[in-house]
Amino acid sequence: MVSLKCWVLLMLVGGVSLLAMWTAAADQPRNAEARRVDTGDAVLVIHGGEYDLPESVGPEDAGPYKQVLRKALEEGYAELRKEKGTSLDAVEAAIRVMEDSPLFNAGRGSVFNHDGHNEMDASIMDGEHKDKFAGAVAGVTIIKNPISAARAVMEHSPHLLLTGRGAENFVMRLKIDQPDLARKLEVRDPRYFWTQSRWDELKKAWAEEDQQSPQGKKEGRAPTPRRHLGTVGAVAVKNGKLAAGTSTGGMTNKWAGRVGDSPIIGAGTYADNRACAVSCTGWGEYFIEYAVAHEIVARVKYRKGCTVEQAADELINDELMKAGKDGAPIEGGAIVLNPKGHFAVTFNAEAKQMNRGYITRDGKASVAVFEDRLPDPK
Ligand code: ASP
Repeated sequence: MVSLKCWVLLMLVGGVSLLAMWTAAADQPRNAEARRVDTGDAVLVIHGGEYDLPESVGPEDAGPYKQVLRKALEEGYAELRKEKGTSLDAVEAAIRVMEDSPLFNAGRGSVFNHDGHNEMDASIMDGEHKDKFAGAVAGVTIIKNPISAARAVMEHSPHLLLTGRGAENFVMRLKIDQPDLARKLEVRDPRYFWTQSRWDELKKAWAEEDQQSPQGKKEGRAPTPRRHLGTVGAVAVKNGKLAAGTSTGGMTNKWAGRVGDSPIIGAGTYADNRACAVSCTGWGEYFIEYAVAHEIVARVKYRKGCTVEQAADELINDELMKAGKDGAPIEGGAIVLNPKGHFAVTFNAEAKQMNRGYITRDGKASVAVFEDRLPDPK
């Protein structure tokens, strides 16, 4: 028989540990413990970047972001429904919608570099590895839809990646030589890419730098690249054929000429019909070092039984979470889709949130911005 004293002691110990667990949970930042890997079946999956929305935006303002995500899914889906429409067409169409919105860090809403200019990067890849199957542009400043320029590099140049002025000249020439492509390859005055909120973010980053170095000695100092939610990406499948694409303005206050992972095949984007298609978002330097997109594909392809959710979870929630200096976590997320239409969407605890969505074979869409989980499609 347990004595009364023992019971009281047991109750006390139990109560104290419950209280400790509760306080620890309350102390955790939102989502810090979660390993979110959403899965399901879809023909098109998109993301609109990870990390904090602008400070002025709270969960109640998610509506306009969701509207653009839905439109992107619808436009991509419309391409898949066309008899001759391909997964590549769907990826391009979905990304163009997000590039045209000032809310996302790609095309129109691109962030500014340290010198106050917009330099955009994009890449696209066909999962069918025949002849030329990937294209990319980096550091472009006047192309309205960098994802279409990336596709043009793939389909109309002997190269895979063109940068800056070279990429822009190529696009201008192509518009003259092939007028039917002109509609997709519009150019804009750099002022088109100027938005107040992105400008404010840059000014804030400059002010923080000045505070760190009150003498205002700018030369030789490394501008801290401030992250920003909004890089966009898409993966799609039609008849077992995959495609992936990613487009971004990069990181606020990046050095002029800095190229991130988004236009690097294998880092920000990869597709292989024998495994899966991937588009990533996060701190680009680390995604390049860890070759994240290709690494996810390789695990699915070469490790027996490895699913898209396992591979994405390992890279994003394990490896990136200790990839920084002294094992510091690196924020990031990825969308992954296999040829059967099974997908995984994940972003790690360091990435506070991720804009994301998918559409099923019968046209039902689901989008999320602040939610922990993607809701059921409607
Ligand atoms: N990966 C992008 C870059 O580093 C940024 C992002 O995804 O937010 O350029």
